[in-house]
Amino acid sequence: MKLFWRYSFSLFFFIPVFLYGSPFLTVKQTTMDPGVNIPVYEIYGYPWISVSDFMMEIGEDPFYDTSHGVITGKLESYMITIRGGSAFIPIDVYMYHLPGPVERYKNDLVMPLSEWIRFLHTEVFPNLYFNSQSNLLILDPGAYSIQDIKLQNYKNGSTLRIETSRLFKEEDINIWEGRNGWLYCTIYGATGDTLQLSKSYSSGILRHIIPIQMGETFQLSFQLRNLISDYDFYIDPDTRDIVINLRKPTTLSADEKISKESEKWLINTIVLDAGHGGRDPGARGANGVKEKDITLDIVLRLGRLLERDLGMNVVYTRKTDVFIPLHQRTQIANNANGKIFISVHCNSHENRRINGSETFILAPRLTEEAIKIAERENQVIRLEENQKIYEQITNEQYILASMAQSTFMKESEELAALVEKNYTKKLKTTSRGVKQAGFYVLLGASMPNILTEVGFISNKSDLEKLNRASYRQQIAESLFLAIKEFKDKYEKDIPIN
Ligand SMILES: [Zn+2]
Repeated sequence: MKLFWRYSFSLFFFIPVFLYGSPFLTVKQTTMDPGVNIPVYEIYGYPWISVSDFMMEIGEDPFYDTSHGVITGKLESYMITIRGGSAFIPIDVYMYHLPGPVERYKNDLVMPLSEWIRFLHTEVFPNLYFNSQSNLLILDPGAYSIQDIKLQNYKNGSTLRIETSRLFKEEDINIWEGRNGWLYCTIYGATGDTLQLSKSYSSGILRHIIPIQMGETFQLSFQLRNLISDYDFYIDPDTRDIVINLRKPTTLSADEKISKESEKWLINTIVLDAGHGGRDPGARGANGVKEKDITLDIVLRLGRLLERDLGMNVVYTRKTDVFIPLHQRTQIANNANGKIFISVHCNSHENRRINGSETFILAPRLTEEAIKIAERENQVIRLEENQKIYEQITNEQYILASMAQSTFMKESEELAALVEKNYTKKLKTTSRGVKQAGFYVLLGASMPNILTEVGFISNKSDLEKLNRASYRQQIAESLFLAIKEFKDKYEKDIPIN
Protein backbone atom coordinates (compact mmCIF):
# COMPACT_ATOMS: atom_id res chain seq x y z
CA MET A 1 0.00 0.00 0.00
CA LYS A 2 1.42 3.30 -1.07
CA LEU A 3 0.79 6.04 1.39
CA PHE A 4 3.42 8.46 0.28
CA TRP A 5 1.10 11.32 -0.50
CA ARG A 6 -2.25 9.67 -0.93
CA TYR A 7 -3.54 10.97 2.37
CA SER A 8 -6.95 9.91 3.58
CA PHE A 9 -8.67 13.20 3.19
CA SER A 10 -10.66 14.92 0.56
CA LEU A 11 -8.79 17.27 -1.70
CA PHE A 12 -11.48 19.81 -1.00
CA PHE A 13 -9.70 20.51 2.23
CA PHE A 14 -6.90 22.13 0.30
CA ILE A 15 -6.50 25.63 1.59
CA PRO A 16 -4.07 28.02 -0.05
CA VAL A 17 -1.69 29.00 2.74
CA PHE A 18 0.42 32.08 2.62
CA LEU A 19 3.74 30.34 2.74
CA TYR A 20 6.67 32.63 3.50
CA GLY A 21 4.40 35.54 2.73
CA SER A 22 3.57 34.23 -0.73
CA PRO A 23 1.40 31.31 -1.95
CA PHE A 24 3.44 31.26 -5.14
CA LEU A 25 6.57 29.74 -6.49
CA THR A 26 8.44 32.29 -8.58
CA VAL A 27 9.88 30.58 -11.63
CA LYS A 28 12.57 32.24 -13.68
CA GLN A 29 14.16 30.88 -16.82
CA THR A 30 17.42 32.69 -16.05
CA THR A 31 18.65 34.94 -13.28
CA MET A 32 17.74 38.02 -15.32
CA ASP A 33 14.21 36.83 -16.09
CA PRO A 34 11.51 38.72 -14.12
CA GLY A 35 9.76 35.37 -13.59
CA VAL A 36 6.20 34.08 -13.35
CA ASN A 37 4.26 33.06 -10.26
CA ILE A 38 2.84 29.55 -10.01
CA PRO A 39 0.30 28.79 -7.26
CA VAL A 40 1.47 26.74 -4.29
CA TYR A 41 -0.95 25.14 -1.83
CA GLU A 42 -0.08 23.85 1.59
CA ILE A 43 -1.53 20.84 3.31
CA TYR A 44 -0.21 19.08 6.41
CA GLY A 45 2.82 21.31 6.25
CA TYR A 46 3.81 20.32 2.71
CA PRO A 47 3.73 22.71 -0.21
CA TRP A 48 2.03 21.37 -3.34
CA ILE A 49 2.37 22.96 -6.73
CA SER A 50 -0.05 23.34 -9.58
CA VAL A 51 1.85 21.47 -12.31
CA SER A 52 -0.87 22.34 -14.83
CA ASP A 53 -0.15 26.03 -14.23
CA PHE A 54 3.56 25.30 -14.39
CA MET A 55 3.21 23.62 -17.78
CA MET A 56 0.89 26.34 -19.09
CA GLU A 57 3.35 29.08 -18.08
CA ILE A 58 6.71 27.43 -18.71
CA GLY A 59 6.01 24.64 -21.20
CA GLU A 60 6.14 25.04 -24.96
CA ASP A 61 2.92 24.36 -26.90
CA PRO A 62 0.99 23.32 -23.79
CA PHE A 63 -2.32 21.61 -24.19
CA TYR A 64 -4.57 21.04 -21.19
CA ASP A 65 -7.44 18.64 -21.57
CA THR A 66 -9.33 19.67 -18.44
CA SER A 67 -12.14 17.14 -18.84
CA HIS A 68 -9.66 14.23 -18.71
CA GLY A 69 -7.16 15.98 -16.46
CA VAL A 70 -4.22 15.55 -18.84
CA ILE A 71 -1.67 18.16 -19.75
CA THR A 72 0.99 17.85 -22.42
CA GLY A 73 3.73 20.26 -23.37
CA LYS A 74 7.44 20.56 -23.99
CA LEU A 75 10.10 21.39 -21.42
CA GLU A 76 13.57 21.83 -22.93
CA SER A 77 12.34 20.00 -26.09
CA TYR A 78 11.21 16.94 -24.08
CA MET A 79 7.56 16.07 -24.65
CA ILE A 80 5.99 15.66 -21.23
CA THR A 81 2.57 14.28 -20.33
CA ILE A 82 1.09 14.66 -16.87
CA ARG A 83 -2.07 12.78 -16.06
CA GLY A 84 -4.25 13.29 -12.99
CA GLY A 85 -4.40 10.05 -10.97
CA SER A 86 -1.22 8.64 -12.53
CA ALA A 87 2.17 8.28 -10.87
CA PHE A 88 3.96 8.09 -14.23
CA ILE A 89 5.20 11.02 -16.24
CA PRO A 90 6.08 10.02 -19.82
CA ILE A 91 9.05 12.02 -21.10
CA ASP A 92 9.36 11.39 -24.82
CA VAL A 93 9.40 7.58 -24.80
CA TYR A 94 10.73 7.20 -21.26
CA MET A 95 8.69 6.94 -18.05
CA TYR A 96 9.48 8.85 -14.86
CA HIS A 97 7.96 7.24 -11.81
CA LEU A 98 6.63 9.46 -9.03
CA PRO A 99 6.28 8.12 -5.48
CA GLY A 100 2.56 8.92 -5.66
CA PRO A 101 0.00 9.94 -8.23
CA VAL A 102 -0.67 13.44 -9.48
CA GLU A 103 -3.87 14.70 -7.85
CA ARG A 104 -6.66 16.75 -9.36
CA TYR A 105 -7.78 19.75 -7.43
CA LYS A 106 -10.52 21.99 -8.86
CA ASN A 107 -9.13 22.72 -12.31
CA ASP A 108 -5.50 22.10 -11.36
CA LEU A 109 -3.22 19.09 -11.44
CA VAL A 110 -1.19 19.21 -8.24
CA MET A 111 1.73 17.34 -6.69
CA PRO A 112 4.18 17.94 -3.83
CA LEU A 113 6.51 20.78 -4.74
CA SER A 114 9.60 18.85 -3.59
CA GLU A 115 8.75 15.94 -5.94
CA TRP A 116 8.16 18.30 -8.85
CA ILE A 117 11.50 20.01 -8.19
CA ARG A 118 13.17 16.58 -7.98
CA PHE A 119 11.62 15.59 -11.30
CA LEU A 120 12.68 18.83 -13.02
CA HIS A 121 16.17 18.53 -11.58
CA THR A 122 16.84 14.90 -12.51
CA GLU A 123 15.10 14.89 -15.89
CA VAL A 124 15.00 18.35 -17.40
CA PHE A 125 17.02 21.12 -15.75
CA PRO A 126 20.17 19.61 -14.19
CA ASN A 127 21.49 23.03 -13.10
CA LEU A 128 18.31 24.39 -11.63
CA TYR A 129 18.47 26.53 -8.55
CA PHE A 130 15.73 26.25 -5.94
CA ASN A 131 15.40 28.20 -2.71
CA SER A 132 12.65 26.95 -0.44
CA GLN A 133 12.98 29.94 1.86
CA SER A 134 12.09 32.50 -0.78
CA ASN A 135 10.16 30.06 -3.00
CA LEU A 136 12.33 30.87 -5.98
CA LEU A 137 13.15 28.52 -8.81
CA ILE A 138 15.63 29.43 -11.54
CA LEU A 139 15.68 26.84 -14.29
CA ASP A 140 18.97 27.89 -15.84
CA PRO A 141 20.87 29.99 -13.30
CA GLY A 142 24.01 30.12 -15.45
CA ALA A 143 27.37 30.25 -13.79
CA TYR A 144 26.36 32.69 -11.09
CA SER A 145 26.65 31.36 -7.58
CA ILE A 146 25.07 34.40 -5.94
CA GLN A 147 21.45 34.39 -7.02
CA ASP A 148 19.68 37.06 -5.05
CA ILE A 149 19.73 39.13 -1.88
CA LYS A 150 16.68 39.44 0.31
CA LEU A 151 16.19 41.90 3.13
CA GLN A 152 13.87 41.35 6.06
CA ASN A 153 13.34 44.00 8.71
CA TYR A 154 12.49 43.10 12.28
CA LYS A 155 11.89 45.12 15.41
CA ASN A 156 15.42 44.61 16.71
CA GLY A 157 17.25 44.61 13.44
CA SER A 158 17.36 43.19 9.97
CA THR A 159 18.41 40.06 8.19
CA LEU A 160 20.14 39.95 4.84
CA ARG A 161 19.83 36.65 3.03
CA ILE A 162 22.35 36.12 0.28
CA GLU A 163 20.91 33.30 -1.77
CA THR A 164 23.56 31.07 -3.26
CA SER A 165 23.43 28.22 -5.70
CA ARG A 166 26.21 26.36 -3.97
CA LEU A 167 27.37 25.82 -0.44
CA PHE A 168 30.08 28.22 0.68
CA LYS A 169 32.35 27.70 3.66
CA GLU A 170 32.54 30.22 6.45
CA GLU A 171 36.20 30.83 5.68
CA ASP A 172 35.25 31.95 2.15
CA ILE A 173 33.31 34.81 3.67
CA ASN A 174 34.56 38.00 5.22
CA ILE A 175 32.30 40.63 6.68
CA TRP A 176 33.46 43.86 8.16
CA GLU A 177 32.14 47.26 9.01
CA GLY A 178 33.61 50.31 7.32
CA ARG A 179 33.33 53.93 8.20
CA ASN A 180 30.31 56.11 7.40
CA GLY A 181 27.74 53.35 7.64
CA TRP A 182 29.17 50.82 5.22
CA LEU A 183 29.15 47.11 5.75
CA TYR A 184 31.18 44.92 3.43
CA CYS A 185 30.92 41.28 2.60
CA THR A 186 33.34 39.45 0.35
CA ILE A 187 32.69 35.93 -0.81
CA TYR A 188 35.66 34.15 -2.24
CA GLY A 189 34.99 31.94 -5.24
CA ALA A 190 31.59 33.50 -5.89
CA THR A 191 30.11 35.11 -8.98
CA GLY A 192 27.01 37.16 -9.41
CA ASP A 193 25.19 39.43 -11.75
CA THR A 194 26.21 42.89 -10.57
CA LEU A 195 23.43 44.67 -12.45
CA GLN A 196 20.70 42.43 -11.12
CA LEU A 197 21.97 42.42 -7.55
CA SER A 198 22.45 46.14 -7.27
CA LYS A 199 19.52 47.49 -5.27
CA SER A 200 18.30 50.62 -3.54
CA TYR A 201 15.78 50.90 -0.72
CA SER A 202 13.79 54.02 0.01
CA SER A 203 13.29 53.20 3.70
CA GLY A 204 14.52 50.81 6.36
CA ILE A 205 17.99 49.96 7.52
CA LEU A 206 19.50 49.56 4.07
CA ARG A 207 20.06 52.34 1.58
CA HIS A 208 21.99 50.61 -1.21
CA ILE A 209 23.55 47.32 -2.16
CA ILE A 210 26.54 47.73 -4.46
CA PRO A 211 27.85 44.42 -5.83
CA ILE A 212 31.28 44.18 -7.41
CA GLN A 213 32.86 41.22 -9.14
CA MET A 214 36.56 41.42 -8.40
CA GLY A 215 37.90 38.40 -10.18
CA GLU A 216 37.36 35.37 -7.99
CA THR A 217 35.91 37.44 -5.21
CA PHE A 218 32.42 38.83 -5.10
CA GLN A 219 32.06 41.89 -2.93
CA LEU A 220 28.83 43.32 -1.61
CA SER A 221 28.91 46.82 -0.17
CA PHE A 222 25.89 47.60 1.95
CA GLN A 223 25.23 51.23 2.68
CA LEU A 224 23.25 51.41 5.89
CA ARG A 225 20.82 54.13 6.79
CA ASN A 226 20.80 53.43 10.51
CA LEU A 227 23.49 52.60 13.00
CA ILE A 228 23.90 48.98 13.94
CA SER A 229 25.29 47.79 17.25
CA ASP A 230 26.73 44.61 15.82
CA TYR A 231 26.30 41.91 13.24
CA ASP A 232 27.03 38.27 12.69
CA PHE A 233 26.55 35.77 9.94
CA TYR A 234 25.99 32.09 9.43
CA ILE A 235 25.34 29.71 6.58
CA ASP A 236 21.85 28.28 6.58
CA PRO A 237 22.36 24.51 6.18
CA ASP A 238 18.94 24.04 4.57
CA THR A 239 18.98 26.72 1.93
CA ARG A 240 22.76 27.33 1.62
CA ASP A 241 21.97 31.03 2.09
CA ILE A 242 24.54 33.29 3.69
CA VAL A 243 22.55 35.02 6.41
CA ILE A 244 23.77 38.28 7.91
CA ASN A 245 22.05 39.55 11.03
CA LEU A 246 22.21 43.27 11.69
CA ARG A 247 21.22 44.36 15.16
CA LYS A 248 19.94 47.78 16.13
CA PRO A 249 21.73 49.45 19.03
CA THR A 250 18.79 49.40 21.44
CA THR A 251 20.12 47.67 24.52
CA LEU A 252 23.20 49.81 25.06
CA SER A 253 23.24 52.79 27.35
CA ALA A 254 24.02 56.15 25.81
CA ASP A 255 27.56 56.08 27.21
CA GLU A 256 28.19 52.56 25.96
CA LYS A 257 26.90 53.55 22.56
CA ILE A 258 29.24 56.49 22.36
CA SER A 259 32.30 54.56 23.45
CA LYS A 260 31.51 51.71 21.07
CA GLU A 261 30.86 54.13 18.29
CA SER A 262 34.03 56.10 19.10
CA GLU A 263 36.16 53.01 18.86
CA LYS A 264 34.92 52.36 15.35
CA TRP A 265 36.09 55.77 14.26
CA LEU A 266 39.54 55.61 15.78
CA ILE A 267 42.28 55.47 13.21
CA ASN A 268 43.99 52.61 14.96
CA THR A 269 44.89 50.21 12.16
CA ILE A 270 46.93 51.12 9.12
CA VAL A 271 47.78 48.92 6.19
CA LEU A 272 51.13 49.54 4.54
CA ASP A 273 51.74 48.20 1.09
CA ALA A 274 55.29 48.00 -0.21
CA GLY A 275 54.98 48.17 -4.00
CA HIS A 276 55.98 45.12 -6.09
CA GLY A 277 58.02 42.20 -4.68
CA GLY A 278 59.24 38.74 -5.59
CA ARG A 279 59.32 38.14 -9.34
CA ASP A 280 58.08 41.69 -9.87
CA PRO A 281 61.02 44.04 -9.23
CA GLY A 282 59.13 47.21 -10.25
CA ALA A 283 61.19 50.00 -11.78
CA ARG A 284 64.95 49.51 -12.01
CA GLY A 285 67.58 52.16 -11.36
CA ALA A 286 70.84 52.72 -13.24
CA ASN A 287 72.93 50.87 -10.68
CA GLY A 288 70.69 47.81 -10.53
CA VAL A 289 68.58 49.16 -7.67
CA LYS A 290 65.10 47.70 -7.64
CA GLU A 291 61.96 49.58 -6.71
CA LYS A 292 60.67 46.60 -4.68
CA ASP A 293 63.63 46.83 -2.25
CA ILE A 294 63.33 50.58 -1.74
CA THR A 295 59.59 50.45 -1.14
CA LEU A 296 59.88 47.59 1.35
CA ASP A 297 62.61 49.38 3.31
CA ILE A 298 60.55 52.60 3.53
CA VAL A 299 57.42 50.74 4.56
CA LEU A 300 59.20 48.83 7.33
CA ARG A 301 60.71 52.05 8.66
CA LEU A 302 57.32 53.76 8.55
CA GLY A 303 55.63 50.84 10.29
CA ARG A 304 58.15 50.94 13.15
CA LEU A 305 57.48 54.66 13.67
CA LEU A 306 53.72 54.21 13.69
CA GLU A 307 53.89 51.34 16.15
CA ARG A 308 56.41 52.98 18.44
CA ASP A 309 55.18 56.59 18.50
CA LEU A 310 51.48 56.30 17.80
CA GLY A 311 50.81 52.80 19.11
CA MET A 312 49.04 51.95 15.88
CA ASN A 313 48.29 48.47 14.73
CA VAL A 314 50.32 48.11 11.53
CA VAL A 315 49.41 45.50 8.94
CA TYR A 316 51.81 44.88 6.06
CA THR A 317 50.76 43.41 2.74
CA ARG A 318 54.29 42.05 2.60
CA LYS A 319 57.24 42.18 5.00
CA THR A 320 59.62 40.26 2.78
CA ASP A 321 60.56 39.99 -0.88
CA VAL A 322 57.49 38.07 -2.05
CA PHE A 323 55.07 38.43 -4.91
CA ILE A 324 51.53 39.48 -3.96
CA PRO A 325 48.85 40.04 -6.64
CA LEU A 326 47.36 43.52 -6.65
CA HIS A 327 43.82 42.54 -5.76
CA GLN A 328 45.07 40.53 -2.79
CA ARG A 329 46.73 43.61 -1.33
CA THR A 330 43.40 45.43 -1.09
CA GLN A 331 41.81 42.32 0.31
CA ILE A 332 44.43 42.12 3.07
CA ALA A 333 43.62 45.74 3.90
CA ASN A 334 39.88 45.13 4.03
CA ASN A 335 40.16 41.96 6.06
CA ALA A 336 42.37 43.74 8.57
CA ASN A 337 39.66 46.37 8.95
CA GLY A 338 42.29 49.00 8.20
CA LYS A 339 41.47 52.67 8.62
CA ILE A 340 44.13 53.85 6.17
CA PHE A 341 45.77 52.12 3.21
CA ILE A 342 49.07 53.44 1.83
CA SER A 343 50.82 51.91 -1.15
CA VAL A 344 54.43 53.04 -1.51
CA HIS A 345 56.16 53.14 -4.90
CA CYS A 346 59.04 54.72 -6.83
CA ASN A 347 58.44 56.46 -10.10
CA SER A 348 60.21 56.07 -13.42
CA HIS A 349 60.16 58.09 -16.61
CA GLU A 350 61.94 57.92 -19.93
CA ASN A 351 62.75 61.59 -19.51
CA ARG A 352 65.48 61.25 -16.91
CA ARG A 353 65.31 64.89 -15.88
CA ILE A 354 61.87 64.44 -14.32
CA ASN A 355 62.14 64.17 -10.54
CA GLY A 356 60.19 64.62 -7.32
CA SER A 357 57.25 63.02 -5.60
CA GLU A 358 53.60 62.60 -6.48
CA THR A 359 50.70 61.02 -4.65
CA PHE A 360 47.62 59.46 -6.17
CA ILE A 361 44.06 58.79 -5.24
CA LEU A 362 41.79 56.51 -7.19
CA ALA A 363 40.13 58.14 -10.19
CA PRO A 364 36.34 57.86 -10.06
CA ARG A 365 36.23 56.87 -13.71
CA LEU A 366 38.48 54.74 -15.84
CA THR A 367 39.26 57.49 -18.33
CA GLU A 368 42.04 57.13 -20.88
CA GLU A 369 44.20 59.43 -18.82
CA ALA A 370 43.52 57.51 -15.61
CA ILE A 371 44.52 54.30 -17.41
CA LYS A 372 47.61 55.85 -18.93
CA ILE A 373 48.96 57.23 -15.65
CA ALA A 374 48.38 53.91 -13.91
CA GLU A 375 49.81 51.83 -16.75
CA ARG A 376 53.28 51.39 -15.34
CA GLU A 377 52.14 50.34 -11.88
CA ASN A 378 49.34 48.19 -13.25
CA GLN A 379 51.51 46.26 -15.68
CA VAL A 380 52.56 43.87 -12.91
CA ILE A 381 49.35 41.99 -13.64
CA ARG A 382 51.18 40.44 -16.58
CA LEU A 383 53.18 38.51 -14.00
CA GLU A 384 50.11 37.38 -12.12
CA GLU A 385 48.70 33.93 -12.66
CA ASN A 386 45.14 35.02 -12.94
CA GLN A 387 45.18 37.99 -15.30
CA LYS A 388 41.54 37.41 -16.14
CA ILE A 389 40.64 39.12 -12.89
CA TYR A 390 41.55 42.47 -14.33
CA GLU A 391 40.30 41.87 -17.85
CA GLN A 392 36.91 41.40 -16.27
CA ILE A 393 36.98 44.84 -14.73
CA THR A 394 34.87 46.71 -17.21
CA ASN A 395 34.41 50.42 -17.04
CA GLU A 396 31.06 49.97 -15.41
CA GLN A 397 32.41 47.66 -12.71
CA TYR A 398 35.23 50.06 -12.12
CA ILE A 399 32.75 52.88 -11.56
CA LEU A 400 30.76 50.72 -9.15
CA ALA A 401 33.91 49.74 -7.29
CA SER A 402 35.17 53.28 -7.04
CA MET A 403 31.67 54.40 -6.02
CA ALA A 404 31.81 52.04 -3.08
CA GLN A 405 34.78 53.98 -1.87
CA SER A 406 33.58 57.40 -2.92
CA THR A 407 32.85 58.10 0.74
CA PHE A 408 36.59 57.92 1.36
CA MET A 409 37.47 60.10 -1.60
CA LYS A 410 37.56 63.34 0.35
CA GLU A 411 39.62 61.78 3.12
CA SER A 412 41.95 60.09 0.63
CA GLU A 413 42.50 63.43 -1.05
CA GLU A 414 43.24 65.11 2.28
CA LEU A 415 45.69 62.39 3.22
CA ALA A 416 47.39 62.63 -0.17
CA ALA A 417 47.71 66.41 0.21
CA LEU A 418 49.21 66.00 3.71
CA VAL A 419 51.72 63.49 2.34
CA GLU A 420 52.85 65.85 -0.40
CA LYS A 421 52.97 68.79 2.04
CA ASN A 422 55.20 66.87 4.44
CA TYR A 423 57.51 65.66 1.65
CA THR A 424 58.03 69.24 0.56
CA LYS A 425 58.69 70.40 4.11
CA LYS A 426 61.01 67.60 5.15
CA LEU A 427 62.61 66.27 1.98
CA LYS A 428 62.84 69.57 0.14
CA THR A 429 62.04 67.89 -3.16
CA THR A 430 59.75 68.92 -5.96
CA SER A 431 56.17 68.00 -5.28
CA ARG A 432 54.33 67.08 -8.45
CA GLY A 433 51.13 67.22 -6.47
CA VAL A 434 48.08 65.07 -5.85
CA LYS A 435 46.64 63.29 -8.89
CA GLN A 436 43.99 60.76 -9.81
CA ALA A 437 44.63 57.51 -11.62
CA GLY A 438 43.14 54.08 -12.11
CA PHE A 439 45.43 52.02 -9.93
CA TYR A 440 44.12 48.51 -9.47
CA VAL A 441 45.83 48.22 -6.11
CA LEU A 442 43.53 50.92 -4.71
CA LEU A 443 40.35 49.56 -6.25
CA GLY A 444 38.00 48.13 -3.66
CA ALA A 445 39.81 49.40 -0.57
CA SER A 446 37.16 50.29 1.98
CA MET A 447 39.15 52.98 3.76
CA PRO A 448 40.96 56.17 2.79
CA ASN A 449 43.67 55.02 0.43
CA ILE A 450 46.55 56.53 -1.48
CA LEU A 451 49.44 55.47 -3.65
CA THR A 452 52.55 57.54 -3.16
CA GLU A 453 55.50 57.73 -5.54
CA VAL A 454 58.39 58.80 -3.35
CA GLY A 455 60.79 59.77 -6.14
CA PHE A 456 62.03 58.93 -9.63
CA ILE A 457 64.33 55.97 -9.80
CA SER A 458 65.08 57.08 -13.38
CA ASN A 459 66.43 60.43 -12.18
CA LYS A 460 70.08 60.54 -11.11
CA SER A 461 69.70 62.80 -8.11
CA ASP A 462 66.48 61.16 -6.86
CA LEU A 463 68.09 57.74 -7.17
CA GLU A 464 71.20 58.85 -5.28
CA LYS A 465 68.99 59.99 -2.43
CA LEU A 466 66.76 56.91 -2.50
CA ASN A 467 69.89 54.80 -2.16
CA ARG A 468 70.70 56.41 1.19
CA ALA A 469 69.19 54.81 4.28
CA SER A 470 69.05 58.21 6.00
CA TYR A 471 66.92 59.58 3.16
CA ARG A 472 64.58 56.60 3.23
CA GLN A 473 64.22 57.20 6.96
CA GLN A 474 63.29 60.80 6.18
CA ILE A 475 60.64 59.66 3.72
CA ALA A 476 59.23 57.37 6.40
CA GLU A 477 59.24 60.30 8.84
CA SER A 478 57.41 62.57 6.36
CA LEU A 479 54.78 59.90 5.83
CA PHE A 480 54.57 59.42 9.59
CA LEU A 481 53.91 63.14 10.12
CA ALA A 482 51.25 63.18 7.41
CA ILE A 483 49.49 60.19 8.95
CA LYS A 484 49.73 61.71 12.43
CA GLU A 485 48.20 64.97 11.22
CA PHE A 486 45.41 63.10 9.46
CA LYS A 487 44.75 60.91 12.51
CA ASP A 488 44.73 63.89 14.87
CA LYS A 489 42.31 65.77 12.69
CA TYR A 490 39.82 62.94 12.38
CA GLU A 491 40.06 61.72 15.94
CA LYS A 492 39.60 65.22 17.35
CA ASP A 493 35.90 65.18 16.51
CA ILE A 494 35.18 61.79 18.03
CA PRO A 495 33.23 62.18 21.27
CA ILE A 496 35.16 60.52 24.10
CA ASN A 497 33.43 59.90 27.38
ZN1 LIG B 1 55.71 50.78 -8.50
